[in-house]
Amino acid sequence: MPIIIDKLQYVYSPQTAYEKHALKDINLVINDGEFVGLIGHTGSGKSTLIQHLNGLLRSTGGKIYFNGQDIYEKDFNMKYLRSKVGLVFQYPEHQLFETTVYKDVSFGPKNLGLDQLEVDMRTYEAIKMVGLGEDMIDASPFELSGGQKRRVAIAGVLAMKPEVLILDEPTAGLDPKGRDEILEQINKLHKESNITIVLVSHSMEDVAKYADKLIVMNKGSVVFQDTPHKVFEHYKELEMMGLAAPQVTYVMHELKDRGIPVKTDATTIEEA
Ligand code: ADP
Repeated sequence: MPIIIDKLQYVYSPQTAYEKHALKDINLVINDGEFVGLIGHTGSGKSTLIQHLNGLLRSTGGKIYFNGQDIYEKDFNMKYLRSKVGLVFQYPEHQLFETTVYKDVSFGPKNLGLDQLEVDMRTYEAIKMVGLGEDMIDASPFELSGGQKRRVAIAGVLAMKPEVLILDEPTAGLDPKGRDEILEQINKLHKESNITIVLVSHSMEDVAKYADKLIVMNKGSVVFQDTPHKVFEHYKELEMMGLAAPQVTYVMHELKDRGIPVKTDATTIEEA
């Protein structure tokens, strides 16, 4: 069942001098198994939006439906939502705290009260899903590289077996190699499982290469939601929204290499 977002609004600090309309009438559909790229300039509302998807923030207007149920209905089980929608925050490695990779990844399933065999199975599977070797299982997370730590943190969320995995700026602070590795791994994870991915980024380069659908946010509104090459037809508007032109050009080349023609309102790929 898709996630349906209907006229969602969110206001920070309402009726104060700091009032901020962070989300304005957001209408969105996220389908099962889709790889969605959520993109927008810093401050466009991406983090605010994803925190609604697992109930961390409660809308100040509008509705969200998960598996056909209104998540703001009185009898809706938020715990169930949180178990189905896994959220990987920015710099998730800052939340690692256990002495071994095993303990960190197994923390969530253990707290679900599962038996030891199930906890072990989920832990090993999640570690494999993020491309870490089993030999790392007893390592201290703090001995690992930045990219590896991040994978451990993602494995901890995957061990909860979510249906939807939301990653907020998963490449932030990584070098180009680490960035490519983590994106490739997320893409592989998506291809090999039925999981829905929502990848949040301010970088077109990060999202457009893998996403089936791009959601472009600007100043609290969704301005486009379509396939990457349809979104790129609005090249000029993307540029005006601070989604840097070189990034768009780069992705246009990528799509051309994959045999997907891109028509833009600004320039042809040859001129770019
Ligand atoms: P993004 O993730 O796209 O960078 P955010 O969702 O973090 O955007 O922010 C959207 C808007 O809401 C911004 O103007 C930001 O300053 C504001 N904002 C975010 N968090 C808070 C908060 N806790 N209190 C007040 N305003 C906030």
